[in-house]
Amino acid sequence: MGFDGRVALITGGGSGIGEAISKELASLGAKVVVTDIKLDAAQRVVDEIVADGGEAAAFEGNTAVPDDSRKAVDFAIETYGALNYAVNNAGIGGTQAPAGEVDIDDWNRVIDINLNGVLYGMRYQIPAMLDAGAAESSIVNMASIHGTVAALGSGAYTAAKHGVVGITKNAAAEYGDQNLRINAVGPGYIETPLVKSSLSDEAYGALAGKHPLGRLGRPEEVAKVVRFLLSDDASFVTGAYYLIDGGYTTV
Ligand code: NAD
Repeated sequence: MGFDGRVALITGGGSGIGEAISKELASLGAKVVVTDIKLDAAQRVVDEIVADGGEAAAFEGNTAVPDDSRKAVDFAIETYGALNYAVNNAGIGGTQAPAGEVDIDDWNRVIDINLNGVLYGMRYQIPAMLDAGAAESSIVNMASIHGTVAALGSGAYTAAKHGVVGITKNAAAEYGDQNLRINAVGPGYIETPLVKSSLSDEAYGALAGKHPLGRLGRPEEVAKVVRFLLSDDASFVTGAYYLIDGGYTTV
């Protein structure tokens, strides 16, 4: 796969999908910087990676703060000497309301974390990857099925995830001639602490039914596609938006 000894940075790596990606890459020999707004969450994941024989370091950062994104990249370079891979994964759901009733502060918070945070990440990751060698580097940005279809009552989430798909295409086109590949993924509903804790059994069943595979996805199923896109196996894949949605968007 080509991950051995290379350096990866995962935002929001302290839980759910980011945790699964961090562990997947570490298991393949990558040195992983796990960043999260909650340092204790990132440190727990690091401890579990190290206990399994992997290499990882925790970093506290808020992806909605540009300077935190710069510091996270600096930390990766200071700790492990370079940056090869980044997964801009941190994201939140926000409060439910239709467009005509949206709380403006909530709108701004979701856009700041879910969209601006992805650009802030790439703003500092890309120059570091060009230094490290673009052909040995790659970025995956975390969109969602709501990068292509609506999430009723979560307009900021839908707008941010559509924006993630857009900025991914732009960045891929801008850096293709330098051999840096940049892709996005669009998971359907995935069983993470966030989703499990916010749904009744009935709502969970209804949500599962929206996926033709009849269930929610697992974080590891997202991590495997992200791993593929980062790896040399995806050497001719860039600017793509890979759905990992159990068929959600087919109906
Ligand atoms: P999660 O809540 O389990 O994990 C998210 C992590 O991000 C947490 O550890 C949290 O502390 C961290 N975080 C939150 N805000 C942050 C910030 N500003 N800066 C840094 N870290 C921050 O969530 P998850 O379900 O694993 O979601 C991860 C990503 O996947 C999000 O972008 C989400 O939109 C996307 N996604 C999730 C699903 C799903 O069904 N779970 C589906 C599609 C896309």
